[in-house]
Amino acid sequence: MKQDIENKLIGKNTRPTSMRILVYDFLSSQEAAMSLSEIENHFDHADRTTIYRTLKTFEEKGIVHGIQENATTKYKLCHDGCNENTHKDWHLHFYCKICQQTTCKEDISFPENMRTDFRIDEIRLFAKGICENCLESLQ
Ligand SMILES: [Zn+2]
Ligand SMILES: [Zn+2]
Ligand SMILES: [Zn+2]
Repeated sequence: MKQDIENKLIGKNTRPTSMRILVYDFLSSQEAAMSLSEIENHFDHADRTTIYRTLKTFEEKGIVHGIQENATTKYKLCHDGCNENTHKDWHLHFYCKICQQTTCKEDISFPENMRTDFRIDEIRLFAKGICENCLESLQ
């Protein structure tokens, strides 16, 4: 597992420090996107600045993408297609009003190979509603 993460980080031109490995491991174990404070709470003893810097590096290197949600940003791991030049996370992000979790809905996405005369640097698709788990418990 640790070796896997090291290889992923190296593959994205990022030196696998122990903090980076820990943060990557935590994010990969989560179904939902995590905010800085949620990540912080998970690592009681880690320094806030270190975690913040880790996330910023990850974002620059195409390892995580940030999802803007009101005043906070949540982070979710990217796919192999993202790198330090481009992010290709052109899928829907879904916020559940009941469990307050934000998830990536990869099957609903913008076509990546779309040809345009203009250049797209960023696409944000964001929806709010009730997720499949919460819908089920409502019945
Ligand atoms: Zn990405
Ligand atoms: Zn929910
Ligand atoms: Zn996403």
